[in-house]
Amino acid sequence: MTAYDLVLANGRAIDPETGLDAVRDIGITGGVIRAVSQTPLTGTTRVDLGGLVVCPGFIDLHSHTMDVAGHRLQALDGVTTVLELEAGAYPVGAAYHKAAQQGRPLNYGFATSWGIARMGVLLGLEAGGDIEKFLAYIGHEDWQRPAARPVVDRILAMLEGDLADGALGIGILVGYAPRVDPSEYLAVAALAARHNLPTYTHARELVEQDPTTPIDGAEEVVRAAAETGAHMHYCHVNSTSIRHVDRVLGLVEKVRAEGSRVTTEAYPYGAGMTGVGAAFLAPEILHRRGLTAHSIGLLGAEGRLADEEALRAARRDTPGAAAFVHLLDEDDPAAFDYIQRALAFPDAAVATDAVPLLWRSGTPDPLAWPPAPDAVTHPRTAGTYGRTLRRLVRENAVLGLQEAIRRCTLVPADVVGSGVPAMRRKGRVQVGCDADLTVFDPETVTDRATYTDTARGSSGFVHVVVAGDFVVRDSEIVTTAFPGRPVRA
Ligand SMILES: [Zn+2]
Repeated sequence: MTAYDLVLANGRAIDPETGLDAVRDIGITGGVIRAVSQTPLTGTTRVDLGGLVVCPGFIDLHSHTMDVAGHRLQALDGVTTVLELEAGAYPVGAAYHKAAQQGRPLNYGFATSWGIARMGVLLGLEAGGDIEKFLAYIGHEDWQRPAARPVVDRILAMLEGDLADGALGIGILVGYAPRVDPSEYLAVAALAARHNLPTYTHARELVEQDPTTPIDGAEEVVRAAAETGAHMHYCHVNSTSIRHVDRVLGLVEKVRAEGSRVTTEAYPYGAGMTGVGAAFLAPEILHRRGLTAHSIGLLGAEGRLADEEALRAARRDTPGAAAFVHLLDEDDPAAFDYIQRALAFPDAAVATDAVPLLWRSGTPDPLAWPPAPDAVTHPRTAGTYGRTLRRLVRENAVLGLQEAIRRCTLVPADVVGSGVPAMRRKGRVQVGCDADLTVFDPETVTDRATYTDTARGSSGFVHVVVAGDFVVRDSEIVTTAFPGRPVRA
């Protein structure tokens, strides 16, 4: 009888693609699932799951966590693969190299970055960086201005180089440069279509939010899909649509019915987070989103901004500082329902928009575990999946357990997998697939991070396995485990 490296025995195995939901032993060798068995398997290591759910590890399409501490917080929330697709990185080769050199607990991958490439060209910077670079220059108006065609061609050439180098698609932060000519957006989408890779958009203003916008943000995404044939992924449709989510999703539904490829994602929180210098947080236009300066609070500071003057000062002095933007009151059921509708929309993925930890004092120490108590973040970084399983499945019955798991695993795997064959081995509990698995108790699993205790890990995720290695075992982080592998096109 074969002995596998690892056997996860007696789990309630849920595989969203085949519909399997039954007690199985899972045999793993060499980081790959080799058996999913009704009869007991033998393993060098054998862990009895006692009927807990065992399902594919969660695949986060939208994570800006760029270090080990961020990965570990996400591991405690059931995640096995973190992908930086919306902001992306440029050049992706450098981002993959850095992650491989430092080691990562979770699998990782990057789209190329229209925003960072554009900053490089329009600001005359040495092109290169990730979300930190983006935040550093977020408030500079010069990178946001419309560009002539030869300039656009230079940006496109940079992106094309990255696509040839294994980028997972193109991240388009057009919402941060909301006056860019719509023809540039279409050209970026057309480039992605030629390479058969998706784009990941932070949409620009909706007409309701800015009647002078060059194009409605939602119309722009769906038009690009129809006109170029690109697979357009609509990032955090909850936070850019707010109370207009039904109108936006209606558009998506319509173009999908006509054959366009548009996918969506959402996260279950009423507050967004971004650099306080973002174009759409300008005090003069906040009211269009139903916000005031008091809707904004700086990460790591007490309370909200007092007034417009405080907002102007923050934008001038620390434009890259992370800020909460309280868009919807999640304790108000009617407001939370907007968020739930975004999450329950057909085939929407659950994705966190996780942000890097901010160490308020002292030197950042991403290898320390647990992180220093002064390290803060948005609670969505640590709690998105636990909260989805608690609020949407257990408390509000908006999604069934199997369907919620599908939206955390198979759905995101297939979003990326439309252009990246390696992703078709993820998001599945099947023989031959990657042994990225999450084991949790559906009765108790929960988020614990809050707006005041932001970096508290979720509980109820008992084991998390990446490429056959435990990164969480018996609900504790395995601090010696760095099995994360690159996902590359
Ligand atoms: Zn965004």
